[in-house]
Amino acid sequence: MTLAIHWFRRDLRLTDNTALNAAVAAREQVVPVYILSTWKGVHRWTGAPRQQFLVDSLTSLSAGLAAAGGRLLIRQGDAVAELEALVAETGADAIYANRDPDPFGRAVETRLFQAAKRLGVELHLLKDAALHERSEVLTGSQTPFRVFTPFSRAWAKLDKPLPGTAVTRLKTPANLRSLPLPTLATWGLEPDGSEILEAGEKAAQARLERFVENAVFSYVEKRDLPAAEGTSRLSQDLRFGLLSIRKIYARLQERSQSLNETQARSLQVYINELCWREFYFQVLWHKPEVLEVEYSEDYRGMPWKNDPAAFERWCAGQTGFPIVDAGMRQLRQTGFMHNRVRMITAMFLTKDMHLDWRMGEQWFMQRLLDGEIASNNGGWQWSSGTGTDAAPYFRIQNPWTQGLRFDAAGEYIKRWVPELKAVPAPRLHQPPSPGMRLVRDYPLPMLDHAQERDIALKKYKLHLESSRSVKTL
Ligand SMILES: Cc1cc2nc3c(=O)[nH]c(=O)nc-3n(C[C@H](O)[C@H](O)[C@H](O)COP(=O)(O)OP(=O)(O)OC[C@H]3O[C@@H](n4cnc5c(N)ncnc54)[C@H](O)[C@@H]3O)c2cc1C
Repeated sequence: MTLAIHWFRRDLRLTDNTALNAAVAAREQVVPVYILSTWKGVHRWTGAPRQQFLVDSLTSLSAGLAAAGGRLLIRQGDAVAELEALVAETGADAIYANRDPDPFGRAVETRLFQAAKRLGVELHLLKDAALHERSEVLTGSQTPFRVFTPFSRAWAKLDKPLPGTAVTRLKTPANLRSLPLPTLATWGLEPDGSEILEAGEKAAQARLERFVENAVFSYVEKRDLPAAEGTSRLSQDLRFGLLSIRKIYARLQERSQSLNETQARSLQVYINELCWREFYFQVLWHKPEVLEVEYSEDYRGMPWKNDPAAFERWCAGQTGFPIVDAGMRQLRQTGFMHNRVRMITAMFLTKDMHLDWRMGEQWFMQRLLDGEIASNNGGWQWSSGTGTDAAPYFRIQNPWTQGLRFDAAGEYIKRWVPELKAVPAPRLHQPPSPGMRLVRDYPLPMLDHAQERDIALKKYKLHLESSRSVKTL
């Protein structure tokens, strides 16, 4: 009886799973395993909402595997050590896994490569999380792109991989040791009352179908309106691999037949968003140091304010800026924040409050169901003007006018900041008269946007000039 291990990582599905399909095709029996991390308590980049989504996804995957005749093993510890132990226990002669795009996953893969060599087993690490990864999209001179638009043009020209089939039958040997499915307590966490989306492959497929059947055609019109729920809500599904990116792309291609101009444009704009995800994957692949320092060398070493009390107010959605507070509270209660509002809140933290983007990056990673190291870092660096944006620091959004432009009726604000329900919409989008609260229980704005904007502009300009003058010395 030939036997392989499939190591589940961020690919928690049976449909169109590259490495799982390869393992099932190559060996008579497959041992599917998920290896839990061992941290307890507070983690810099993880928190209860996303771990709960992981727990729910594993529960659903386990049921799916059982229905196909297999069994999901749960282990905990160092992934390489656990896989080595599993090879010894089962006599497997091959390990299959899908590649991870972030540097932490990559480091484990390097160690696993050495271990597999030592053990004399085959190791198959396959591309799965992206349509195009690593150095597949390069400039004419074979260097990585630094700016999104030319990257997206080159990306669009490449042939896209097609989706594979679903695993419907697999055999796992009996009597292998497994931990029970995890709960939040596995990591020393407690439920925090977040109302999170349904996890699992079926729920993700239903979200995809809902979106491609209709909403994709009004994406352009609605994607910037946080109250409209006009986006796909697939980010956590891509993060955990409940859906394959190939399947999403193929569904969009199917829908691209006989469209009018508006519909075709909407679909194209949506595909462009999927491309942003791969752009940030490749940024992180080529420049893993962005997790520590600014992407643009000119902004490294910039002074940031130290104000823990102000940071707390931002996290709690108590800044006195309704659109900012609505976003921060949506994040706290659901593990999600609309993209437009992510930009508004991130710019507010870095350019109005002058706090370090790394603090916001960390808070988002702890709260977001879709917390994706590459996209989150890219979004934070873009918003703070230190990243890949072609028009960097002087792009400073005004939270009052952003609120008016994208939530004119105040529907989104009132949904997440219920104490403002009775306030007429126009008043939600302008600074209240000095000392006058909008309502008794809602704080006064914690700062004056115009003033802080000027301070930010001076700070960035000064830093930029001094970095450039150092370079020319
Ligand atoms: C400060 C900041 C932090 C962010 N952090 C994350 C994160 O941790 N994880 C994450 O997936 N996205 C992140 N984004 C990007 C974006 O906000 C989310 O992908 C989007 O809101 C998810 O909702 P959706 O699936 O309905 O998006 P849709 O508008 O339906 O987009 C479809 C898909 O395209 C991808 N996508 C869209 N916009 C972006 C983008 N700007 N960058 C990268 N991928 C994108 C996502 O996979 C998304 O699911 C961040 C953006 C900012 C400004």
